[in-house]
Amino acid sequence: IVDDRASSLERLTRMLSAEHIVDGEGDAGQAVERAASGQYELAIVNLSLQSADPLRLCSQLRGQEPARQLPIMVIADPDDTPRMMRSLDLGVNDYVLRPVDKHELLLRIRSQVSRKRANDRLMSDVQRTIALAVTDALTGLHNRRYLETHLNTLTRQAREREGDLSVLTLDIDFFKSINDTHGHDVGDEVLKEFARRLKSNIRGLDLACRHGGEEFVLVMPDTDLSVAYQVGERIRRLVASEPFQVQNGPEMLTVTVSVGVASYQGKGDTPEEILKRSDEALYSAKREGRNRVVSQAA
Ligand code: GH3
Ligand code: MG
Ligand code: MG
Repeated sequence: IVDDRASSLERLTRMLSAEHIVDGEGDAGQAVERAASGQYELAIVNLSLQSADPLRLCSQLRGQEPARQLPIMVIADPDDTPRMMRSLDLGVNDYVLRPVDKHELLLRIRSQVSRKRANDRLMSDVQRTIALAVTDALTGLHNRRYLETHLNTLTRQAREREGDLSVLTLDIDFFKSINDTHGHDVGDEVLKEFARRLKSNIRGLDLACRHGGEEFVLVMPDTDLSVAYQVGERIRRLVASEPFQVQNGPEMLTVTVSVGVASYQGKGDTPEEILKRSDEALYSAKREGRNRVVSQAA
């Protein structure tokens, strides 16, 4: 409640405190700052504010990002309809006239707050749906769909800046036999632990994806073939050198990975071609005995 008259603030607080947690604020500037924290579900502004322009306050509350969804209710004198009308123009959600009837006020608050909650729920559902569409549920890495979109963008950027771009394709060795020997759950644990090691050993701007099954793709902007090879080698070592701890199987499990490396080759090269070359390099690594890194053919 923003109200600079102590007696009125106190009366309103008393009306609401059985159903709500109420913070009172007498200073308009402070009120804007506090609303910016995003912790409120409703703001009530007294339109007879003396120490600041209440209409300006309403539009400031409306205008700032975290509080954009904050419902605002004004309390107005019946003879101050022009100001009340203007506040509604500014996007205020509801009003109550003086003398304030406790039950009416509570009713209106309830409806504003429940509308806000429904709205928030909808927003977070939408955000979750969007996140799910681009995330692999098992590992939390990006999924294939995300990779395809972003590899396009990154390849275009490499072309425009005449910069480097490298791709690693990583495939866990003999994964089928891990599943066959220890069960699918252990296989899943291995995938999660592999993803964890991968994620913790790359830069923030590198893009790690689960391409499907036990195959992963790592896209590295501004990285040439020889550096990418070294990254591949580091990840290979990181996987092979430390056995995986699994809960549902043997305590320690030795896992290895094979890696194919390819780089953007300048104008005319496409994302599909880069992926294809790193895939061919991966198959060479498999043929040559696995647990190794192979770069694209020169
Ligand atoms: P290679 O060394 O040649 O890569 O042999 P591999 O056994 O790793 O390769 P293969 O493609 O024959 O087998 C991959 C297996 O991965 C088969 C499939 O059942 C298993 N798999 C795919 N997705 C999942 C998953 O989400 N969880 C588990 N546990 N297994 C999966
Ligand atoms: Mg495999
Ligand atoms: Mg595979």
